[in-house]
Amino acid sequence: MQQIDVDFHIHSRYSGGTSRDMIASVIARQAELKGLDLVGTGDALNPDWLRHIKKNLTEESDGVYSSSESKTRFLVTTEVEDYKGVHHLLLFPSISSAEELMERFKRYSSDIEKDGRPHLRLNGEQIVDSAGDVDALLGPAHAFTPWTAIYKEYNSLRECYGDNIRDVKFLELGLSADSYMADRISELQEITFMTNSDTHSPWPHRLGREFNRILVKDLSFSEIKKAIEHKNDRRFVLNVGLNPREGKYHLTSCTRCFLRFKLADAERLKWRCPECRGVIKKGVSDRINELATWEKPHHPWHRPRYIHIIPLAEVISLATGIRTITSKKIHERWKRLIDRFGTEINVLIDSETSEIKKIDPGVGRIIEKFRTGRMKYVAGGGGQYGRPTLKDEEDNFYGMGQRSLSEFLG
Ligand SMILES: [Zn+2]
Ligand SMILES: [Zn+2]
Repeated sequence: MQQIDVDFHIHSRYSGGTSRDMIASVIARQAELKGLDLVGTGDALNPDWLRHIKKNLTEESDGVYSSSESKTRFLVTTEVEDYKGVHHLLLFPSISSAEELMERFKRYSSDIEKDGRPHLRLNGEQIVDSAGDVDALLGPAHAFTPWTAIYKEYNSLRECYGDNIRDVKFLELGLSADSYMADRISELQEITFMTNSDTHSPWPHRLGREFNRILVKDLSFSEIKKAIEHKNDRRFVLNVGLNPREGKYHLTSCTRCFLRFKLADAERLKWRCPECRGVIKKGVSDRINELATWEKPHHPWHRPRYIHIIPLAEVISLATGIRTITSKKIHERWKRLIDRFGTEINVLIDSETSEIKKIDPGVGRIIEKFRTGRMKYVAGGGGQYGRPTLKDEEDNFYGMGQRSLSEFLG
């Protein structure tokens, strides 16, 4: 058996708002530097992207594709949006399985030829049916976010998937939630939690910012399927991701001025921000409180540990005070650590901090801090990311003595 690090959910250059660099060769090289053994192709129902991956990747074994550029392998994946605006993540056993599903979905979608993440005139139950016909696996994507996720629309998985719920074996937590939050919901006890980046750019502070460590016999679709179903000793052994406070929908917030709100205030204000008249959106933290069965998490036997990380470029930014993540200075220090430890994942979770400190003491101290749960975070919300902080900063809630916007402008 071996442990592999996998990021199942990314988007290609054919999805809206993504980097032009989201092409197979660049993703392959950057994923290798990150330390991912396997990465999802994303967008596998898009004809242009399918053509690109067929040209640039070769099937190596059962559902796993390789690129000449790096050791990292690819698994065929996509995200789709159903008729209620709910996002689902799909994993395919092969490119031809994705092609077959694309042909079927054409009549239910007006943008499958254009968008990497197609809109389907189908409900969740119907999409599970179709996925099953081509042996693909499906689960809700970033399940608790307020715009496009299953729990913004429904109060249970069954409401969305009907009797097909028995075929839904995984759920993607999304950046704003973790297992400590989601294991307060009793209907999720059997389900495998996934931690994926959903990245729109290939650089290692985005790609693999969340990933799964999985115990399998070899790199193949059928082994991953067994791990998702926690069968035959195959299983997820780690969920790794940002602290949920870093997610951009963690707290209930105004989507325009990003003022944070207590749930009761947002309800009383009818989801309109009194400062800027912007729309207030319910945060993942408040949504999970509503759905929760228990006050404290109940972790089932198969649930792995959840580790909070901070992307290495952001760690270096914190250590140096250099704000621009993509600056040359940050890259040089990042490179020095990668040269010594091989991959970013190795630095972030597997190497001794004493060894890291020998190369870069400032970075070593911050890694020690988040590994031991002592890092503080300003929480995200309303579409604005949260961030780690070394200072004493408070979340900026409505009615807690913040300077109002009118005061600011006036
Ligand atoms: Zn999505
Ligand atoms: Zn506002």
